[in-house]
Amino acid sequence: KVRVRFAPSPTGPLHLGGVRTALYDYLFAKNQGGEFVLRIEDTDTARYVEGAEDYIEEALEWCGIIPDESPKKGGKFAPYRQSERRDIYDRYTEQILKTDYAYIAFDTPEELDAIRAEFEAEGDVFSYDNKTRNRLRNSIALSEEEVQKLLDEKTPYVVRFKMPVDRTLNLHDIIRGNSSVNTNTLDDKVLVKNDGMPTYHFANIIDDHEMEISHVIRGEEWLPSLGLHTLLYEAMGWEAPQFAHLSLILKPDVSTLINKDNIDSITKSFAEEFVLKNSQFSFDESAELIKSFFAEVKSPRFKSMLGENDKDNPLTASVKQFLKKGLSGKLSKRDGDKFGFPVFPLDFKDPSTGVVSKGYRENEYLPDAFINMVALLGWTPADDKEILSLEEMSKEFDLHKVHKAGARFSKEKSEWFNHQYIQMKSDDELLQILKNTDLNLSGVADEKLVKIIGLMKERATFPKDIYENGKFFFEAPVSYDEKASKKAWNEETSAVLEELVKNLATAEFTSEILKQAVHDFAENKGLGMGKVMMPLRLSLVGELKGPDVPDIMELIGKEESISRINNAIN
Ligand code: GLU
Repeated sequence: KVRVRFAPSPTGPLHLGGVRTALYDYLFAKNQGGEFVLRIEDTDTARYVEGAEDYIEEALEWCGIIPDESPKKGGKFAPYRQSERRDIYDRYTEQILKTDYAYIAFDTPEELDAIRAEFEAEGDVFSYDNKTRNRLRNSIALSEEEVQKLLDEKTPYVVRFKMPVDRTLNLHDIIRGNSSVNTNTLDDKVLVKNDGMPTYHFANIIDDHEMEISHVIRGEEWLPSLGLHTLLYEAMGWEAPQFAHLSLILKPDVSTLINKDNIDSITKSFAEEFVLKNSQFSFDESAELIKSFFAEVKSPRFKSMLGENDKDNPLTASVKQFLKKGLSGKLSKRDGDKFGFPVFPLDFKDPSTGVVSKGYRENEYLPDAFINMVALLGWTPADDKEILSLEEMSKEFDLHKVHKAGARFSKEKSEWFNHQYIQMKSDDELLQILKNTDLNLSGVADEKLVKIIGLMKERATFPKDIYENGKFFFEAPVSYDEKASKKAWNEETSAVLEELVKNLATAEFTSEILKQAVHDFAENKGLGMGKVMMPLRLSLVGELKGPDVPDIMELIGKEESISRINNAIN
């Protein structure tokens, strides 16, 4: 039976990478007719963030990634919060201590710091492993009596994994294939802390075993732990699940993000971070230099500019280094604020700083568009299909087709998905969505709104665009775009429109009739259509944008149309 879990730590809001892991967990489970479990890994109390668990659950719900078992829902293997599973871990701590795979260690953090310093003085790096463990304060190096004495004195201790000496481990990953690691490169990780709580590694494999997890699908950052986890299963005498590690989500291409409207704010946030790390330089000087680089961001020279470092002064050299790092590699949680796109599914208010990070939900992304975008960060469905519902994705998802290489996030692509999904919604569905925003639409009849939606959605990336780009449906223009006026208006225009108004006064205001009426009028006067339509549009809209003029006139009605034309004439 296929059972897959998503096991986030409540150390902050879920970000794009976390959502993608949860989504692939879910898709694989559903594809295989299996179960999807949400487990909260909260053994690290120091990193616990208030509200993070609720956030994770709410975010998954918004995405439609609904677990079959979870802390809230319960299930056969409850509890699903690690902090509530202490008795289970205690049992297995006892068990592993009876094997040759674990030992207890009394070293205090101060002792370990001192040893680390000694190593550093010799130009070495200290590692608690099979080469050093014999010289430290633990149950391997000390005699049985000494250990017993320390225990009797209630000396705090941790439990460490005893990494076997010089064994080559063959590891298998569904996405990455086979690899191997020698145990001499691995250290003796802490399994149980001195407060008796297990660390991530130990709790994680116990729970995966206890909860009968068949497949572990998780982020690439856990790949280095695979050797340890494999040995932990061996130590416990358990069969290990299958593993699949997902590649990173990479930063977007900055050249598509920086433009003249945001270059100053992006420069500012980069410069702030730069001087925080390089306090020897002034903010103004650094910002000026950073901006001069960003000004070249669209030029093909940009990348090589950052690479050159022949005769740089120290500031230039440091800025180049900083930018090279900051503009490539893994998409970070801070990139959203820097570049102006959300990296979190929902708004998240950091309880300690009060700072709110922007979410996709609050920024008017449709949940189905959002998860469609996320799913394609690292997976290509058959026939390069791009638009798929959650159900269609579940039918098609194949872990073997998940990419090994990192997936580059793109702001434009995520907007493109939203645009596509808006087109797929009915006008009535969009009406409900618009009514749930903070727009005040109470003065406008639903019937009219639905028609506006029908006319405007084609150009909308976000639901609110329908309103923003269609403001003229709700209010008369207060000014006329200067360029448009020059183009649309000449000395005769007022007289032409005046006459047209007379004709329209008796016309029935349906788009069809109006179209014909304006057409006939222009023909009679021997004028090109544009000569009439353009000033008409300008009078009604204030600029030369928007859907067909007769459609606009029908919707705003005779009285309002004529009043707007008269306003423009005078
Ligand atoms: N609690 C770990 C995390 O937050 C889970 C890693 C895993 O899936 O094994 O990423």
